[in-house]
Amino acid sequence: MAYTIPDISLNDGNTIPQLGFGVYQIAPKVTAEAVGRALEIGYRHIDTAEMYGNEAEVGQAIRTSDLDRSDVFVTSKLNNGFHRPDDARRAFDSTLEALKTDYIDLFLIHWPLPTRYDGDFVSTWKTLEEFQRDGRARSVGVSNFQVPHLERLAAEAEVTPAVNQVEVHPYFGNEEVRAYGRAHGIATEAWAPIAQGKVLDDPTLLDIAEQLGRSVAQVVLRWHVQRGDIVFPKSVTPERVEENFRIFDFELDDATMERITALDRGEAGRQGPNPDTFDVIPA
Ligand code: NAD
Repeated sequence: MAYTIPDISLNDGNTIPQLGFGVYQIAPKVTAEAVGRALEIGYRHIDTAEMYGNEAEVGQAIRTSDLDRSDVFVTSKLNNGFHRPDDARRAFDSTLEALKTDYIDLFLIHWPLPTRYDGDFVSTWKTLEEFQRDGRARSVGVSNFQVPHLERLAAEAEVTPAVNQVEVHPYFGNEEVRAYGRAHGIATEAWAPIAQGKVLDDPTLLDIAEQLGRSVAQVVLRWHVQRGDIVFPKSVTPERVEENFRIFDFELDDATMERITALDRGEAGRQGPNPDTFDVIPA
């Protein structure tokens, strides 16, 4: 039987492959090769960002593959220095130029930066709405938005974000943000799905992995997809990229799902910055 990656339906009628390949901290000089390999393995969803500095190499890998542009779902994100509408328009143009494509599947505000730009991420969001209206962004969404940020968009903007890409892994369940997304039709994308490697030697996860004859990374990625979230683990090691792709040929039972969910450490489990206070913009 063919091995297929499920699609998740977004609130704007588009779909996104539930499993993708993340390219954060993949150096530009090895990105084209890493993405090319991921496409060969079968990944059809690449998560990049202006901040990662490797959009051009992602575009190059897609063009030099055997695939059509329309076969690959590409996400990028607005960099933190470009929240003002005119800056966002220029930055978005640069993203399309770097990728050498005339549309992007999904474009996100990377961080809300509530303590910058007079706390105005709403006009930034309305600029992304423009990109969707003119067809150059098929879907638009946000990243690292907390519940009050999402509530503000609901009150002041037209379009509900298609996704919210936030940190989620067994040590940081981010349940409140996920629950808001579920209630309002916003798909959750889980970044750092294996906590940037921190969960790999967890005794509970090692025990589960051993019982199932799977790796800890596979068990954790499987837990995410059974919760309905979208994931795009990052690795440049071919065996790991292959391993992370093989998560749709086994299942976790309810008790195992609960054991993993119970590893949540709340705020203490966060690996990345807290979006309420994070305000770093490029020099
Ligand atoms: P991750 O949880 O995917 O972990 C990556 C680390 O785990 C790497 O060191 C990798 O070598 C290792 N790893 C991967 N697969 C493995 C395996 N099978 N066995 C052992 N080790 C393995 O962390 P990440 O890269 O930070 O997150 C994934 C993606 O999420 C990023 O590439 C990026 O696309 C996105 N992201 C978004 C934001 C945001 O603010 N929106 C922030 C961070 C990451």
